[in-house]
Amino acid sequence: MNKTEELKKIKDEIVGLTNSPLYAERIANKVFPVIGEGNHDAEIMFIGEAPGENEAKTGRPFCGRAGKVLDELLKSVGINREDVYVTNIVKDRPPKNRDPFPEEISIYAPFLDRQIEIIKPKVVATLGRFSMQYVMNRYGLEWELAPISILHGKVFQASNFKLIPLYHPAAAIYNQYLLDTLKTDFQVLKTLI
Ligand code: URA
Repeated sequence: MNKTEELKKIKDEIVGLTNSPLYAERIANKVFPVIGEGNHDAEIMFIGEAPGENEAKTGRPFCGRAGKVLDELLKSVGINREDVYVTNIVKDRPPKNRDPFPEEISIYAPFLDRQIEIIKPKVVATLGRFSMQYVMNRYGLEWELAPISILHGKVFQASNFKLIPLYHPAAAIYNQYLLDTLKTDFQVLKTLI
């Protein structure tokens, strides 16, 4: 199977993931799971938290207000969104955008692991604390774990990729300080490719 076929298989499995606690919600609201989008040979993979309302309506990651911030950050360092891969740890929208529950992360995370394995990014950039915590625990960096206020913008070497934890773009919507911090951290990210 080539990369596109393997990623399509992940999509099909998530579409039929009836044992997810978020599946019934998806069907009742007539919305979509959000699998991920971008270049299958991307050097950078961004991992957010979970789809929001706009994302569940369209099936596309980071297409609402947080996505506009992400686009602005990418533009600020001259990276094209088409060249990266963007996904989330949880692939269905939690009701009312609440934080994902640990059991939801456990159900969807194996799909994220497979996406990392298939795309083989040089750099993983986590957006927000949920994906930071998951990736650090899963990929041998658990001893380095600390609050995101300390780890953001720092670079860690996992076995197969570099990790840079970043704040979630949604946090910067009404916070100029965090937006400036994200811009500085994107300059670091840019040096990794
Ligand atoms: N927030 C996320 O974490 N992911 C999205 O796709 C959109 C908003």
